[in-house]
Amino acid sequence: MLNVTRWLASALLAVVILLLSNSTVAQPEPELALEKVRLQLKWKHQFQFAGFYAAIKQGYYADAGFDVDILPVNFQRSASEVVLSGAAEFGVADSSLVLSRLQGKPVVILAAVFQHSPLVLISKQSSNILSPLELVGKRVMFQRNVDDAVLTAMFTEFGLDDDQYSHMPHSFKDDALLNGEVDVMSGYITDQPYLYIEKNIAINIISPASYGIDFYGDMLFTREDYLKNNKQKVLRFREASLKGWEYAIAHPKEMAEWIFKNLETEKTLAHLLYEAENTVRLIKPQLVELGYFSLNRFGRISDIYKQLGLADTTQDIEGINYLDYYQEQAQHGWLKLLLLALALTLSVAFILWAYNHRLKKQVALRSQALVEARDELGYYLDVVDRYVINSVMNTKGEFTRVSQAFCEASGYTAAELLGKHFDYLAHESSIVMLRDAFNVALVKQGAWSGELLLQHKTEGVFWLMMDLESVVDAKGRLAGLMEISVNISDKKRIEALSSIDPLTSLYNRRGLGDAFNHSIALAKRYNKKFSIIIFDVDYFKRINDSYGHSQGDEVIRAVADIMRDTIREADVPGRWGGEEFVVFCPETDLQGAYFLAEKLRIKISNYSFTDLPKQSCSFGVAEWSTDDSYESLITRADNYLYKAKAKGRNCSEGLTHRTAEII
Ligand code: GH3
Ligand code: MG
Ligand code: MG
Repeated sequence: MLNVTRWLASALLAVVILLLSNSTVAQPEPELALEKVRLQLKWKHQFQFAGFYAAIKQGYYADAGFDVDILPVNFQRSASEVVLSGAAEFGVADSSLVLSRLQGKPVVILAAVFQHSPLVLISKQSSNILSPLELVGKRVMFQRNVDDAVLTAMFTEFGLDDDQYSHMPHSFKDDALLNGEVDVMSGYITDQPYLYIEKNIAINIISPASYGIDFYGDMLFTREDYLKNNKQKVLRFREASLKGWEYAIAHPKEMAEWIFKNLETEKTLAHLLYEAENTVRLIKPQLVELGYFSLNRFGRISDIYKQLGLADTTQDIEGINYLDYYQEQAQHGWLKLLLLALALTLSVAFILWAYNHRLKKQVALRSQALVEARDELGYYLDVVDRYVINSVMNTKGEFTRVSQAFCEASGYTAAELLGKHFDYLAHESSIVMLRDAFNVALVKQGAWSGELLLQHKTEGVFWLMMDLESVVDAKGRLAGLMEISVNISDKKRIEALSSIDPLTSLYNRRGLGDAFNHSIALAKRYNKKFSIIIFDVDYFKRINDSYGHSQGDEVIRAVADIMRDTIREADVPGRWGGEEFVVFCPETDLQGAYFLAEKLRIKISNYSFTDLPKQSCSFGVAEWSTDDSYESLITRADNYLYKAKAKGRNCSEGLTHRTAEII
C-alpha cells in the first residue's frame, strides 16, 4: 500500500513539473537590453502626464526593459497621427481616439487614465453666462475638429446651431477672455481656473459632464501592428505606466516639484501644484481601478460622434480594446492553467491526506483571506455610503437607515432623520405625489420612480430623481421600503430658465405665454380669428400605476409627436403640464379648431404603442373674443375639456349650439 502511494505521489509531481516547464505562465522572459521607445504626449510638459514621468523617475520603465523618450506636443501633428506614422510607439490622446477608430485608423487603447474629460467652457462671472443656453450671439473660442466633440455634443443637446454663436479659433492666449476678445473659451478644468484665481477674477464653468456628455479624458494607446508584433512588450509598458500613475497619485507634491525642476514647463510651481490636486480628483483613484475603461461607454461616445455626423453610422470600433488581441493566447493559457490547476489539486489533496497537520495551516490561511475579503467589502460599502443617495424605511415610512450622501443632499444629520417619516422632507407641492409613491411601493409592492421636490434643512429646496421599491425579509414578508436617488437640482434650475419642455421639446407654460401674447397681437392688428385647443390624456394615472412612470413618459412623447405631425405650420403646440397639451390656432375660428381637435383625437386613439394598450384624449376648444384675457380663454377651453371628461372621455367639446347645428 505504502509503495503504491509513493508511486502515485511521484507520478503526480512529474505531471506538475512537466506542465510547469512547458507553461508560458511560468517561463521567465528572456533577459532584455533596455529598448528605446517613444511616448507622444498630447500637450506640453505638465502635471497632466505625471504618471509617465513617475515611471521614469522610479525606474518602473527601466525594470520593464524600456528606455522611454517622452515627447511633448508637436503642433503639426496630433498624437495619434505621430503614433500611426511610426514616429512613436505609444501616445496619450483623448476620446478622439474613438473617432479615429471609427474612421478606420488602427489605434488601440491600452488604458484610460482620466475617467472624465477635463475640457470645459469658461466665462467671466460678470458676463452671466451660466449654461449653453446663454451662448446665443456670443463669441466662443475652442479648437474645431481637435477637442470639440464634447462641446458640440453639448450644443446639440441644447439645440444650439453653429450660426447661433460665433466660433473663434483657439489662440491659446490666456488673456483672450480677460481683455474681452472672446466671451467664452475652452480650457482644462484641472489647470485653467488657476490663472483666474491667481488674478482674483471670478469665473463660471460650463461642464459638458453636467449635461450627460461624459467622455474619457487622457488615454494611453498604441497602434495595431506594433501591438501584434510586441504583445508582451506592450503589456509591460502598460503596467509600468499605470504603476507610475499610482506613484504620482500618492505623491502629487513630489511629482509637481520634480516636473518643475527637470522638465521644460511654462508653469510656476504653484500652478503645477494646483493642477496636481485637480488632476488626482479627476482620475478618481478611490472609485475606479486605474486604467479601467468600459466598452459600453466607448459605444456611447461613438454614437455621439455618429449623431454629430463625424462618422458613418455603419462604422464600428472593433479592435479598439487591447484585450481583444490577447484572447486567443489567453484561451490557450487558460487550458494549460486548467490542467495545471487539476494536477495541483490532485497533488494538494494527496499531500493533505498524507500530512494531516498541514490542514490546520491551510485553514488558518483561508481565515486570513476571509478577513481580507471582509475588509475589502467594508471599503466598497463605505464608498457607496459616501456617494450614493440612499435610505431605508420601515412599513410606516419612517427612516431606519440613511446614507451619508443622503444626509449631505438634505442638510440633516443621520440622527436628525432616523425615526422621522419621509413626509418630513417633502415640499408641500410633493406631498400628494409622495403618498402616491408610497402607495405604489408599499400597498401594491411595485416599483415607483419619479422626480420629487424636497425641503433642504437650511438651503431652500432640492430635487431628487428617485427610485422607490419595497423590501422583504428572509421569509418574504414586507419589511419596508428602499430608495435610491440622484440629485437633479442643477438640471431643474436650468429647466426653469428654459421655455422648452425637456421631455417633448414642445413649448412649456412659460414659452406658451410668450407665444400667446405674440399671436393675440397679430389677431388684433389684422382683425383675425384665433382659437385654442386644450386636451388631456384619459385615465393616465392607470398607465403610471400599471406600467411605470417611464412608460407614462413614452405616451406623453408619442402624443407630442402626433401633434407635431398633424397641425399646420402656423399652429403652436405646447405642453400645459403633466399630460395636458395646448394648441394655439391663429387665423382659425371655433369650427376649424373643433375639426382639428377631432382629427387629433382620432389619430391619437388609433395609434398603436409597442408595449401599451391604445390611449385616448378628451378635448376642449374655445375661440378668442376681443374682451378675452389669456386666463379667461384658457378657462373656457378647460371647462369644455372637463365637460368632455364628464361625457365619458374620448370626445371633443366646445362648439356652441348654433355652430354644432351648422356642422
Ligand atoms: P382623467 O381621465 O380624468 O384625466 O384621468 P387621469 O388618470 O389622467 O387623471 P389625472 O389628470 O388626475 O392624472 C394625471 C397623472 O399624471 C398624475 C401624475 O402623477 C401624472 N403625471 C404628471 N406629469 C407626468 C409626467 O411628466 N410623466 C408621467 N409619467 N406622469 C405624469
Ligand atoms: Mg388625465
Ligand atoms: Mg390631467
